[in-house]
Amino acid sequence: MTDKVHLGHRARKRFGQNFLNDESIIDKIVTAIDPKPGDNLVEIGPGLGAITEPVVELSGKLTVVELDRDLAERLIEHPFMGSKLTVHQGDAMKFDFSTLVDEQSKLKIFGNLPYNVSTPLLFHLFEFADQVEHMHFMLQKEVVNRMVAGPGSKAYGRLSVMTQYYCHAIPVIEVPPTCFKPAPKVDSAVVRLMPKDAASRNAKSTKILNTVCLEAFNQRRKTLRNSLSNLLTVEEIKQLGIDPSLRAENISLTQFIEIANWIYDNKQ
Ligand code: SAM
Repeated sequence: MTDKVHLGHRARKRFGQNFLNDESIIDKIVTAIDPKPGDNLVEIGPGLGAITEPVVELSGKLTVVELDRDLAERLIEHPFMGSKLTVHQGDAMKFDFSTLVDEQSKLKIFGNLPYNVSTPLLFHLFEFADQVEHMHFMLQKEVVNRMVAGPGSKAYGRLSVMTQYYCHAIPVIEVPPTCFKPAPKVDSAVVRLMPKDAASRNAKSTKILNTVCLEAFNQRRKTLRNSLSNLLTVEEIKQLGIDPSLRAENISLTQFIEIANWIYDNKQ
């Protein structure tokens, strides 16, 4: 057997398959999720069930979204877990998570995410922030660093602003490549995301906020007068009380929201 074969399954690179293979890390992740009977739990990319099994043992039931048909089937047919799982075979990036919400409880979403699609998947998940109690995701450590970075840091970018717009983000566990089979080339980390309440998320259009971040960070070495020239004149930036000679990396979340709301009010 090559190290790509784990529990009889050949890992598929195109699905970002690196299976967790370390009991102590799995324990730490399950402790962070803290599953309980009655929780509305959802796992993205359960794979061979490394986190699925201990979570189901504690919660009694779990919904999973898995893209790989073979793995989804394996879970449906699983001798102990099968009856406790609701398996959706398909792409989590297209999945409407609001369909899983019930009146009693918000969603608790978790997963060791496929690293090749983690950023678009996170952006998709942010759209359901109102329906989510918390999320725990294993990601590349570098991605977690970007999610939690603040102004002035090299890691600060669109992912930082949008993550922190929707959620409080806290790194909780560091995970070396040796904990996976096959081992990824990068270090990993688990991040806890606690959605902020809707009232504190005061962008009038998240689409515009996202566009402002895209433009501002697209050429991050440029000053705002240049990087935002498609959206605002220098005078308009000044009108907002922001120095146009600053770069995106110096602009706070609050200022990005102010820029986006000004565009919404004046240029729509
Ligand atoms: N949870 C397992 C573990 O920790 O061992 C597997 C994690 S592996 C890094 C990522 C999992 O996500 C794989 O099972 C893969 O098939 C699945 N996956 C990849 N892309 C997906 C997508 N777009 N939607 C849902 N699942 C996906």
